[in-house]
Amino acid sequence: MANYIDLANLIFPNITTTIEDLEKRYPKRDLPEGAMVTRFAPSPTGFLHTGSLFTSLVSSYYAKQSNGVFYIRLEDTDTKREIAGSGASLVEQLKVFDVIPNEGYISDEEELGNYGPYKQSERAHLYNTVIKHLISVGRAYPCFCSVDDLAELRKEQEANKEIPGYYGKYARCRDLSVDEAIERINNGDPYIIRFKSMGDHNNKVEFHDEVKGDLTLTENDQDIIILKSDGLPTYHFAHLVDDHFMRTTHVTRGEEWLSSLPIHLELFDTLGFERPKYGHLPVIMKVDEGVRRKLSKRKDLEAAVSYFLEQGYPKYGFIEYLLTIANSNYEQWREQNLDKDFYEFKMSFDKMGIDGALFDIAKVANISKERMAYKKAKDLCEEVKTWAKQYHEEFYNKIVADEDFFVSILNIEREKEKPRKDYAKYSDIYPIISFFYDDVYSTIDYSTVEWNPTMNKENIKAVLEDYANTINMELNEEEWFNSIKELSVRHGFADNIKVWKKDKESYKGHVGDVSEMLRIALSGRKNSPNLYCVIQILGKEKVIERINNTIKSL
Ligand code: GLU
Repeated sequence: MANYIDLANLIFPNITTTIEDLEKRYPKRDLPEGAMVTRFAPSPTGFLHTGSLFTSLVSSYYAKQSNGVFYIRLEDTDTKREIAGSGASLVEQLKVFDVIPNEGYISDEEELGNYGPYKQSERAHLYNTVIKHLISVGRAYPCFCSVDDLAELRKEQEANKEIPGYYGKYARCRDLSVDEAIERINNGDPYIIRFKSMGDHNNKVEFHDEVKGDLTLTENDQDIIILKSDGLPTYHFAHLVDDHFMRTTHVTRGEEWLSSLPIHLELFDTLGFERPKYGHLPVIMKVDEGVRRKLSKRKDLEAAVSYFLEQGYPKYGFIEYLLTIANSNYEQWREQNLDKDFYEFKMSFDKMGIDGALFDIAKVANISKERMAYKKAKDLCEEVKTWAKQYHEEFYNKIVADEDFFVSILNIEREKEKPRKDYAKYSDIYPIISFFYDDVYSTIDYSTVEWNPTMNKENIKAVLEDYANTINMELNEEEWFNSIKELSVRHGFADNIKVWKKDKESYKGHVGDVSEMLRIALSGRKNSPNLYCVIQILGKEKVIERINNTIKSL
């Protein structure tokens, strides 16, 4: 009579390594007390999801702040969902947000560290070693059930109003004798390998999650598939072997995995592997027609990180927004520590939201606006240039043609105590400032420009002509504004709105109307950055040229 060891040898004749060998090959890491080993384990399915950036950011943050290790593992065992080349592009996109692994998968050609390979498809010998062990101790078995057999099983469970799945008395292949299993394998019957659970769904398991706290979960009793017919392991099994042999201390992952945690706990305990700590992170949600749901990659633009990159949200704005989701005390810390780098914030599990976080794009914009406003013009110029190079060719060409000119434009009402907060993203800038560039300015059609309808053209002409004739570039802002007041008075406009309001009949308008005329003449619009600065940046010659050009069109 054959035994489990014979069965294990039949299924894996070439596996000679043992779990002990693996324990030696991947020893416990020699790290200082408290150092956390965390990971991000994406599947190469094509694009970086906002939720994945969030989990990877949190995971890398914990490793960084504890002087630990953050690694990336590519979970590519679901060949149907895989998009070739997308693993490396994920790593690239993460890099943009400073999520840079200390070790792990970098690209299909490159990896870092001693705990690899970091690509699941290259780790067959590890999985097979562990599965062989499980078979040899009677805790895994070949299952020959066909798709039809499983469908029949489901029907039977539905009819009996029982929990669906492959477990207990429904697990038909679980009790096949070793001899029978060997015979069927030798006959060439197709099979997969299942874990033999000893659990009971009437029992509960107590568990402490770093984020969710103490939980009581239903014990696993499913004989889950651990090796598929294509010879690749399933997520439940593979990630666990990897987290163990890569010596992960903290598994930080989306809370959608919480429901399958009892499977993972039973596997850890069966294998005698020490359980890592778990922190199940909130999933990013959205309210759609009054209903909360997960951000969907099919329906929501903001589900793809690439959307934020294209739009030109600064990475620090986006990261800080994700930090506000990560820890409820982040915003307060930020207010008190405006001068610090956000990496100085101490992230903690107990300040993490328990429920799914609602994604709020207006908040991303607000935070970005705040942070961008305090950037030095030169630094912001570099950021904008890098963005425009990839996403806005026209803008990029303008910047590089005269960088100092662009920096002076960016510097309008910046680098002061209360800077102006008008840009939430790089793509906001060009539409606001493009009029500075002559070729853009020359496309303005003054016949369609909306002047204040209460002003007649003769007045506008007179005011503009007078300004061009008396222009003085040496004045400071206050003096300049006084000169505009004088200009107003010379042409019958009140130099103060209050005065005009009290006695509208006596004036053609007020100083604001006069400024607007100038603003329109120089920029083609009623709203522009600070007019004094616009005049200074354009310079006397251009100001006069633009005024003359405007007068001609009247
Ligand atoms: N490959 C899994 C995913 O992409 C990883 C889950 C985990 O972090 O364990 O969702």
